[in-house]
Amino acid sequence: MSIAHPTVRSRLTLWHAGALTLVICVFAVGVFVFVRASLHRSLDQRIREDLATIEKVYREETGDLGELALRTGMHFEVTEGPTVVYRTAGWPPTGAAAFRQGTLADSAHRVVAARDETPVRQTLWALAVIMATAIPCAVGLAIIGGYLLAGRVLAPVGAMADTARRITAESLDARLPVSNSADEFGRLASVFNETLARLDAAFEQLRRFTADASHELRTPLTVIRSVGEVALHGSLSTEGYREVIGSMLEEVDRLTRLVENLLLLTRAEAGRIPLTRATVDLCELVAGVSDGLRVLAEEKNQELTVELPGPVAVECDATVLRQGITNLLHNAIKFTPPKGIIRVAARSTVGGEAVIEVEDSGPGIPAADHQRVFERFYRVDQARSRDTGGTGLGLAIARWAVEANGGRIELESVAGRGTLFRVALPRS
Ligand code: ADP
Repeated sequence: MSIAHPTVRSRLTLWHAGALTLVICVFAVGVFVFVRASLHRSLDQRIREDLATIEKVYREETGDLGELALRTGMHFEVTEGPTVVYRTAGWPPTGAAAFRQGTLADSAHRVVAARDETPVRQTLWALAVIMATAIPCAVGLAIIGGYLLAGRVLAPVGAMADTARRITAESLDARLPVSNSADEFGRLASVFNETLARLDAAFEQLRRFTADASHELRTPLTVIRSVGEVALHGSLSTEGYREVIGSMLEEVDRLTRLVENLLLLTRAEAGRIPLTRATVDLCELVAGVSDGLRVLAEEKNQELTVELPGPVAVECDATVLRQGITNLLHNAIKFTPPKGIIRVAARSTVGGEAVIEVEDSGPGIPAADHQRVFERFYRVDQARSRDTGGTGLGLAIARWAVEANGGRIELESVAGRGTLFRVALPRS
């Protein structure tokens, strides 16, 4: 700890000790002033009583002033105008002791009495000495106690710092100790732990993504390599070489698609794809997508019906949304066996939404996979989906395309009984 940058513990202790010193000093001064005033008050009271006694003896001549002085040891003086009637020996009292005087006078005479103030002064002095010794002791105790207490209170922070120091990208599953989740440090630790949990999840997702992406990229590369090696070592006819080059290009196509889709998703997730929204007629958009893919359905002898009852205006980025709908319809054609039925529809609902439905009579998606199919690289049937040439990113892109346009995507499907993807968008 340096003087210029004291620790929180020292700062807390100093503040606490400073505040306590101030309070004690104010209190001590108050007590001192109060005690002094009351001691003086009682001394004055006694002097007043002395004056009354002297006055009585003098006036009523019930006794002798000299005898009174002798008996009581009072110090006083009685004068009548300039004439001194009586004066005790050594009046006015002087010397080492301090005296306090009181006067009783009328037009004819004047009585002045004095009392030794030394006991009062001694009491006050003793009080001052006690305070001067006790205050530094109390402040010292406050500093020690405050330091220990601050150490105890701040102990969780030290423990948190130690744990946090040990946390690295590899040990993001570590959590800070939460001794009491209701206090400030407990809440801080909980918030920190929640942040760690999110980071952990993000790191895990990134790790899985890297592993999946590498795996996806390796497959076409392996195919290209093995096909190339076979062609290199054997002597093929021109037709044979053509075939080899053809299948290599197919894999290159797949790689290109994969890389493009990955790039698209990465940029989309980083929010780096600016959307240009405009009013779009969904029916026109859906008709365009269906027309583009109809040839694929025809190749598989599938029946593709398009239901577009009338214009449905939506505020969206047409290019992005088109990409999403294309992926849905492409999947429907891809996964539905030949002679299957595919239905595409766009309509507006009474609830003020625009809905697009893409339905097929294909194999369906088991309920357990409904959430996961939207994840990157997730495939219900790994082998079959890869054979169909999919990159495993189609639905992830479709979901982004819909959500980026303020909509949501729902999936209704029972394994073996076809699939229905419903896209709902706010109507403009
Ligand atoms: P892929 O490139 O494999 O099509 P997607 O992200 O588009 O990747 O789809 C993820 C998985 O969801 C697919 O592999 C498939 O198992 C399943 N799926 C998607 N659409 C359908 C559908 N219409 N019918 C049956 N299964 C589907």
